[in-house]
Amino acid sequence: MDHFQLIDGALHCEAVPLSRIVQEVGTPVYVYSRATLERHARVFREALSGLPRTHVAFAIKANPNIAVLKVLQKQGFGADIVSGGEMKRALAAGMDARDIVFSGVGKTREELSAALEAGVGQFNIELEEEGVVLAALAHAMGKTADAVLRVNPDVDAGTHAKISTGKKENKFGVPIDEAPGIFARLSSLPGLNLRGLALHIGSQIFDLGPIEAAYGKVGAVMADLRAAGHSIDRIDLGGGLGVPYERDKVPPSPADYGAMVERATRGWDVDLYFEPGRVIVGNAGVLLTRVIWVKPGAVRPFVIVDAAMNDLARPAMYDAWHDFEAVAPTGEHMEANIAGPVCESGDTFALARQIDAVKAGDLAVFRTAGAYGATMASTYNSRALVPEVLVDGGRYAIVADRIAPETIIAAERVPDFLAD
Ligand SMILES: *Cc1c(COP(=O)(O)O)cnc(C)c1O
Repeated sequence: MDHFQLIDGALHCEAVPLSRIVQEVGTPVYVYSRATLERHARVFREALSGLPRTHVAFAIKANPNIAVLKVLQKQGFGADIVSGGEMKRALAAGMDARDIVFSGVGKTREELSAALEAGVGQFNIELEEEGVVLAALAHAMGKTADAVLRVNPDVDAGTHAKISTGKKENKFGVPIDEAPGIFARLSSLPGLNLRGLALHIGSQIFDLGPIEAAYGKVGAVMADLRAAGHSIDRIDLGGGLGVPYERDKVPPSPADYGAMVERATRGWDVDLYFEPGRVIVGNAGVLLTRVIWVKPGAVRPFVIVDAAMNDLARPAMYDAWHDFEAVAPTGEHMEANIAGPVCESGDTFALARQIDAVKAGDLAVFRTAGAYGATMASTYNSRALVPEVLVDGGRYAIVADRIAPETIIAAERVPDFLAD
């Protein structure tokens, strides 16, 4: 459920007409709903309420805007980060360093040191050597790093190849059969408090079966480690729950997921960590755009909008679907291709789609753009960096400025040796 609705024939975010935001901010622009973010955070928390000790770390990469992070921080969420930059964002949003989980397969020594310095609460170790380096850095600083070992459970999450992370050919985690040996070697190092295991098998998951199978495999490794005398008090179950990009394709609910976790982890006696991203922010945002032209095509027209693949990369990157709706629908429909202005045929949002009839100048939205939207934006084709707006009831604020090409050009220079 989200708070983007037609009121008197005009699409609103909460109580704010989207057309009003356009008057001030222009297009394209991302618009987020605070009420929707809070609702999703609450639903996710409630889904875990039957579990004894839980910690939720929002996967910042899904939407790193610091206003969005502030909303989630107020909901008691910590952060799952994958870079030093994301750590700065989590801290800027007021999150406690102890509530930060540092994931990622290529953390640099500089990033590890900065995270130790800040007091990050959990390092998810992706390979043995990283654990050795982390232990040495922490020991030299007179600190002990709390850590878990990320295992690759070798299960197929059944999702798009580019967002599948838990098969043995993927770059993430240590092979599950090598995990006990690596755990044993790392756990003896000074500077490291290796407390448990982590996994994350992919994103936009629609089938809980593979996740449950993966949790089972991790539970078995945990039991082996305990039998070998290691104490395990944390398991990080990752993120990955899917969201409904298409109205008639419904993913498992957070409640279904929570029930599965209860079943899969019964008797584990650990603190459970969760790293949801998409499911919290996906439906809480739209990309608001204006139709530039309706261009006749050989088979059907192209609706050319002023948003492009640089603003919303998912269709070009993952063949992803985003519903397209007019801000002031007439009730008429048309079949069209929807494309942006960027000079790539991949800059296409939809092919042969039944959509609200639109004409040049009309406003429209791509729905479910709150996750992996603005965060992946670029300035390709020297377009401005897309701005972001957060709505709260009847008010709104610009939470990220549109960054004009002039500003980006100002960071570049022609060297002396090229001077005329
Ligand atoms: C991306 C990622 C997540 C979040 O995935 P979602 O599908 O957005 O829930 C969680 N944990 C890790 C380690 C990730 O890389």
